[in-house]
Amino acid sequence: MLRFDDRVAIVTGAGHGLGRSHALLLAERGAKVVVNDLGGALDGTGASAGPAAEVVELIRKHGGQAVANTDNVATPEGAEAIVRAAVDDFGRVDVVINNAGILRDRSFGKMSVEEFDGVLAVHVRGSYLVSKAAYPYMKEAGYGRIVNTSSPAGLFGNFGQANYSTAKMGLVGLTKTLGIEGARNGIKANAIAPIAWTRMTEALLPAEFQAKFTPERVSALVAYLVHESCEASGEVFSVGGGRVARVFVAEGPGWKSDEFTPEAIAGNWEAIMAEQPYVLTAGDSMKAML
Ligand code: NAD
Repeated sequence: MLRFDDRVAIVTGAGHGLGRSHALLLAERGAKVVVNDLGGALDGTGASAGPAAEVVELIRKHGGQAVANTDNVATPEGAEAIVRAAVDDFGRVDVVINNAGILRDRSFGKMSVEEFDGVLAVHVRGSYLVSKAAYPYMKEAGYGRIVNTSSPAGLFGNFGQANYSTAKMGLVGLTKTLGIEGARNGIKANAIAPIAWTRMTEALLPAEFQAKFTPERVSALVAYLVHESCEASGEVFSVGGGRVARVFVAEGPGWKSDEFTPEAIAGNWEAIMAEQPYVLTAGDSMKAML
């Protein structure tokens, strides 16, 4: 059994849905958990100490260790306070699960700058800030595990979610660079693109999805990714309903010519759009251009 005894985990947005499920699973397996949640509505407005406190109470009732935190992931002070809660109460920070998220859906033409910025602030800035605050402790320990929460909407696009999909693809870039930079310090970072029945999706998913697409079926992957035995880093996984798959950003074989004109490009469109054989790294992409 994969256990987390003596490990300290921060789970942001852990008052509801996926974060709650991640926190309960890690605590059940021995981790000391900082349960962070601002306790607002789906669009990020409002605040309440209730959700984080309820999850902590549940963990303690089952004999686990946890502390509640209601700071906002999207401000440097909030992110630092979340990490301070881990260090002050439990002495270290081994795991950061950036899960807090909000929705402000609107079609592109109607979306306000505030709706765009507000969503990026929680998902991208929040994940960056909490990881940044935890990073010095992980570096010092030579060990860390970070999971960022992307989305199929970011990987593949979705109507009405220009802000959300920009944020969620941004997290793929953050994860890949953290994976590269963290390697020398024993820090591994991965991202998930989940589907689960939560308050965020209950109005969108068909009712029969509820039993199959449980948050627990996402948390199982997250727990593996933040375990010391997991070697993966810089990867993205699609997960939901009991299925998990690697998602990769790939570049096709391409077409090249010394006659590189707009007309030649138009005339070779089929070769340009080909998918196989593909390359997976910036280095291999550069080699193919030479
Ligand atoms: P949820 O609304 O149940 O949970 C999100 C939690 O984040 C809430 O408890 C909320 O209070 C908290 N939160 C929001 N802003 C915060 C802030 N600034 N600081 C601290 N906490 C904050 O939704 P969920 O479905 O459990 O979503 C969890 C994550 O998974 C989100 O990042 C979401 O975008 C992502 N996601 C979910 C699905 C899905 O199918 N449910 C799909 C793709 C991605």
